[in-house]
Amino acid sequence: MPRPIRATVHAAALRHNLARVRAAAPDARVWAVVKANAYGHGIERVFEGLRSADGFALLDLAEAERLRALDWRGPILLLEGCFELRDLELCSRLGLWHTIHCDEQIAMLAAHKTQAPHRVFLKMNSGMNRLGFTPGRYRAAWTRLNALPQVEEISLMTHFSDADGAKGIAEQLDTFEAVTHDLPGERTLSNSAAILRHGAVIGEKSDWVRPGIAVYGSAPDYPSKSAADWGLLPTLTLASKIIATQQLAVGDTVGYGSSFTAGQPLRIGVVACGYADGYPRHCTTGTPLLVNGVRTRMVARVSMDMITVDLSPVPDAGVGAEVTLWGRSSSGALLSIDEVAQAAGTVGYELMCALAARVPVVVAE
Ligand SMILES: *Cc1c(COP(=O)(O)O)cnc(C)c1O
Repeated sequence: MPRPIRATVHAAALRHNLARVRAAAPDARVWAVVKANAYGHGIERVFEGLRSADGFALLDLAEAERLRALDWRGPILLLEGCFELRDLELCSRLGLWHTIHCDEQIAMLAAHKTQAPHRVFLKMNSGMNRLGFTPGRYRAAWTRLNALPQVEEISLMTHFSDADGAKGIAEQLDTFEAVTHDLPGERTLSNSAAILRHGAVIGEKSDWVRPGIAVYGSAPDYPSKSAADWGLLPTLTLASKIIATQQLAVGDTVGYGSSFTAGQPLRIGVVACGYADGYPRHCTTGTPLLVNGVRTRMVARVSMDMITVDLSPVPDAGVGAEVTLWGRSSSGALLSIDEVAQAAGTVGYELMCALAARVPVVVAE
């Protein structure tokens, strides 16, 4: 028998979350963001669940090729645009729409020979200071692009730094509007946090929205709101089984560094899951997980291939018992990836993306 760990991608949950995002910004069209191999889920595995999206946004050209290989003929947007001149040939061939965020990309486009002019998304740096033209240089960039025969249509784009927090989006939105109010073209603003938290404003101002994490059932603003608060369902389950049990006496320790000491007699289970599977090594005693659908806690350190769990709440659980590291148990109990991420001092995004290649993945409804 293979090692019992496995991941499951839930197609019905992807559909549900996409619908949830649409409801939050009903007037906008939706790019499902599938960068980083669909946040670790696998582009081919999420495709069925997300095919009612209006488009897909990503940043790796090889991933765009994979979407076209799935026979997706609709819009694909390259969120970081092109990295070198020959990428533009692929854009022409595959009909990819691409971001223009710097002078070098305008120069590349001007040097590109194409029969079919491109649709481009001109990005403004409205305050995040990663990609884009500053407000003072934005209109000049627009004018230069507009004069290029390689350009068919210019759309306008920016990205919010604080949609998930107290600062919000107002300042950046004002900056964007002040510079672009009289420019033609479609607008795209808004990651998941901006859609869920500021959907009423965004729905009006954005022709396209770009949700990623919400589609994958994680709350962008956890812990102030949970996935359940937003009506989102987990799309990725990481599950394994108990492969051994130990009965601890008072004073017994567990694992490397003996970091956990039993304060009372305690039965523990050893789970076939470790950091080499993508389970975060920063999790410590107390991290939640489910055994046979019942919530309990991890104890001691995460090692490469194993973790240990407190079996007190599930006295019947023995070798072979189901362990849900995050996601949904076979009995339907839920454990949000956000809770596990928080225990590791990180975010759900990172855990999804870190799912290890050695974990077999299946797609289920
Ligand atoms: C990743 C990304 C998104 C999606 O962000 P989420 O927080 O996952 O919703 C949207 N826009 C851009 C430009 C991105 O890079």
